[in-house]
Amino acid sequence: ARKYVLTKYFNGEPKKSDFKIVEEELPELKDGEILTEAEYLSVDPYMRAYMIGYKLPTDMIGGQVAKIIESRNEKFPVGKYVVGQFGWRTHTVCNPHKPLNQVFMPTLLLNLGSHPVSLGLGILGMPGNTSYFGLKEICKPKSGETIVITGAAGAVGSHVGQIGKILGCRVIGFAGTDEKCEYLTKELGFDHAFNYKTTNIRDALKEGAPKRVDCYFDNVGGEISSTIMNYMNHYGRVAVCGSISSYNDSILPKVSILQPAIVFKELKVEGFLVNRWINRWEEGINANLNWLDEGKLKYQEKIYHGFDNMVDALIGILKGENTGKAVVKVK
Ligand code: NDP
Repeated sequence: ARKYVLTKYFNGEPKKSDFKIVEEELPELKDGEILTEAEYLSVDPYMRAYMIGYKLPTDMIGGQVAKIIESRNEKFPVGKYVVGQFGWRTHTVCNPHKPLNQVFMPTLLLNLGSHPVSLGLGILGMPGNTSYFGLKEICKPKSGETIVITGAAGAVGSHVGQIGKILGCRVIGFAGTDEKCEYLTKELGFDHAFNYKTTNIRDALKEGAPKRVDCYFDNVGGEISSTIMNYMNHYGRVAVCGSISSYNDSILPKVSILQPAIVFKELKVEGFLVNRWINRWEEGINANLNWLDEGKLKYQEKIYHGFDNMVDALIGILKGENTGKAVVKVK
């Protein structure tokens, strides 16, 4: 197996020199174990934020869709695909009934019909469930309400907006290029999308959300979030999903004080981690699969190629190269 080991803490943007690629000898399979070969590796913003908590050197974390190429476990036969939190590595030996980490057990990928297996890392995987549960359980939108989403053209944001439309809401997105905004309105049915790099946020909100904002799905944090929260309706709900605008910063930027808006508008602001719904995982995947089959959910993937390009892919998503979910095709 080849694997990435993180040898230096990130300082600013991740760099190739923060990692080492290491060859590892894999053990013989014991009863109950499987050997998998990675086909798609996930790159996600949390990877930039989480590694601070690890003692170095450490194997790089992350999800992957992998094919079972040897098996001593009849429930996990050769040829089937698993979604596992195996990290940035090409081959893995594991016992799927013993968790590698406390939360995500390796699971057999559902039968996706004609859909590509890579969706197990996107709309039919962790980001898909982040969108499904984050919107439904934290924002609790009602038909006719207005939802604003930042990071709107990414894996989570583009999905949240489409669920918002399915639920009968008005959906406004903020994304980093005009092309992304056009994709959101023309392809995904967002009511409005604005380029946050070139528009005044307050003016955009006045235009896009004349009845102000009931739900804010926050993927980016920072000043834009303060502006949006100041533009919310009484009893508005904020799902704090991520804060990518500061993941590459070592000194956090100053943002406007939000407490008055939270108090006087009686906002409910709640952070969440998608693991909270680990016991309802299949419900989310099945709901998203049904919508996909009904043509109500669309997706794009940004596919990077080659195991040696993992770091470029991670740098790429932090810079906004992707529309939809970014994955790396290993071969
Ligand atoms: P994305 O596919 O959205 O990729 C990241 C996107 O963030 C980029 O494409 C870029 O788009 C945008 N971005 C980068 N820098 C900035 C910036 N300074 N300001 C605003 N936008 C920026 O990633 P995901 O959909 O996978 O994740 C979205 C968010 O959700 C992240 O914050 C992530 O950490 C969080 N998350 C949280 C989970 C949870 O359990 N709470 C689970 C999964 C994800 P653009 O061109 O628009 O700038």
